[in-house]
Amino acid sequence: MGTAMHSPLVVGNWKMHKDPAETACFFKAFEALIDSRVRCDVVICPPFLDLETAVDASSGTRVQIGAQNLHWAKEGAYTGEISGPMIRACGCSHVIVGHSERRRYFGETNESVSRKTLAALDAGLTPIVCIGDFEKKNASDVIVEHFRCSLGGLSVDQFARIVVAYEPFWAIGSGDVAAPAMAGDAHRFIRGQAEAMFGAEASKSTRLLYGGSVKPGNAAGLMAESEIDGFLVDGASLDPAGFASIANLWIPPAP
Ligand code: PEP
Repeated sequence: MGTAMHSPLVVGNWKMHKDPAETACFFKAFEALIDSRVRCDVVICPPFLDLETAVDASSGTRVQIGAQNLHWAKEGAYTGEISGPMIRACGCSHVIVGHSERRRYFGETNESVSRKTLAALDAGLTPIVCIGDFEKKNASDVIVEHFRCSLGGLSVDQFARIVVAYEPFWAIGSGDVAAPAMAGDAHRFIRGQAEAMFGAEASKSTRLLYGGSVKPGNAAGLMAESEIDGFLVDGASLDPAGFASIANLWIPPAP
């Protein structure tokens, strides 16, 4: 599991699920279910309106909070948008950028992903930048395009501070999880791209997450792949027991 220099990372993306009262209930239950011996970082990304509740509820725990999107400007006439400094001021540490649903349904492009990634870093947030193929065939072409065009504007130092999530669109919410060997190959390919563009050290500093139908029942097989440094999980992150059991996989064996 994982060749990155940092501890593994499990991220829950709630998408458009849960209101503030449901968010508070989740954290109450989750705190009791996550094992204190767990050696991974845990980030939960609720909808914007739940961020304050989530930050309060997770205070003093191992869980950090992230947003699901941001605007690239610090402030301005952008009705309905939220900026990186606003997200940071709310107590968040992370933000998801370029999720395939934003690329597919909201016109997100590699250019906007690049601008948002830089804006997140400027605001002191860790961007979790999503890349991935829409179809099983020609996967590597799309990965290369997303990787080069979304991340090509970063310096080596900036790249070392981001998280990359590989999410094949066909696996998201479909139950059609990538086979561990296939996900492992894609991660090795992405690590190779990272090394070619940013060098070996920065490439190892960046955690590469797999996302797409990760469930308590299939997570152990995926985490056995050496280039998978953690998961981006949606459906299974909505249930405190399911999400805790995925994070609890990272309990070191007794000496
Ligand atoms: C996602 O949308 O980022 C995702 C990984 O979804 P799911 O876990 O439900 O497949």
